[in-house]
Amino acid sequence: MIVVMKHTATKENIDDAIARVESLGLKPNVIEGSERTVIAAVGDERIAGIESLESCPGVDEVMPIVAPYKLASSELKPEPSVITAGSLTVGGGHVGVIAGPCSVESEDQIVATAFAVKKSGASALRGGAFKPRTSPYSFQGMKEEGLKLLATARDQTDLAVVTEVVSPDDVELVSKYADVLQIGARNMQNYRLLEAAGKSPCAVLLKRGPSATIDEWLLAAEYILDAGNPNVMLCERGIRTFESHTRFTLPLASAPYVQERTHLPIVMDPSHGTGHASLVPAMSRASIAAGADGLIIEVHPNPDKALSDGYQSLNFDQFAETMAGCQKIAAAMDRTLGAL
Ligand code: PEP
Ligand code: MN
Repeated sequence: MIVVMKHTATKENIDDAIARVESLGLKPNVIEGSERTVIAAVGDERIAGIESLESCPGVDEVMPIVAPYKLASSELKPEPSVITAGSLTVGGGHVGVIAGPCSVESEDQIVATAFAVKKSGASALRGGAFKPRTSPYSFQGMKEEGLKLLATARDQTDLAVVTEVVSPDDVELVSKYADVLQIGARNMQNYRLLEAAGKSPCAVLLKRGPSATIDEWLLAAEYILDAGNPNVMLCERGIRTFESHTRFTLPLASAPYVQERTHLPIVMDPSHGTGHASLVPAMSRASIAAGADGLIIEVHPNPDKALSDGYQSLNFDQFAETMAGCQKIAAAMDRTLGAL
């Protein structure tokens, strides 16, 4: 249920309404909007006595949340959320750009990439230290040593670090080094991992599973929000279709669709979404034109030598050119892009 407080409601009225929500066995979640406060009362709405909320002093109206996801729903919070983590801002008319290699491979590689993407206007550095690979024989990442190298790159460039966590047991460790935890496509429905990320102080970038529906994806986000972490960004990274010319199919309509249904910002991933470096610039521009709040792009000093995803990674010059194209589209859309 959404308990909408009157704009004249006092702090005491709000505290009373929260206590009433709790006494009904529902979990209160307070959202302070610019106009007025709403309380999300999450739980089984079929319980008796719910009407009593309407008679609480200071309460304007009580409405059901129709969407299956509650805290993520724009019914609850119509204003889009803006997520900030260090140098990265995503949403609110600003397109955040996260760039860097698929995997951290060495200090030289990650530090050189951090400086290069920063020079082209990126807002944050990506790089996987724990890699979920399709084959157990592929490079699995540098693990904690990779996290340390990401922290070194952040120290030198001030770029926020976005890096993947693949297991609930690693959330604490990765949170020590990261600004944003990435939950990968393969783990979108790893509910214990989502709950653990919900308890982390870091923001979370939740990738869509390649076979997940949008409702399943938003319910996965709901796990993180319900565990107490409000700083969730969605990431559309392409879905599996019959098409084999691209690695996945990047559904651009996800951006405006998700923005109608949730307040969470959406970041598009044209690298995994196409699987071909040559397609990344056009799909980056198209994503911004479709209203995406951010981009995540794989960039490598020497894509031919990359230990993972080299075929879809841009080199430094290609990234600089891509950013220049994206700046033009962002300006045409009255939005800002990249480093603030
Ligand atoms: C990645 O970002 O390198 C990655 C593994 O992505 P995904 O989970 O979308 O496949
Ligand atoms: Mn990758």
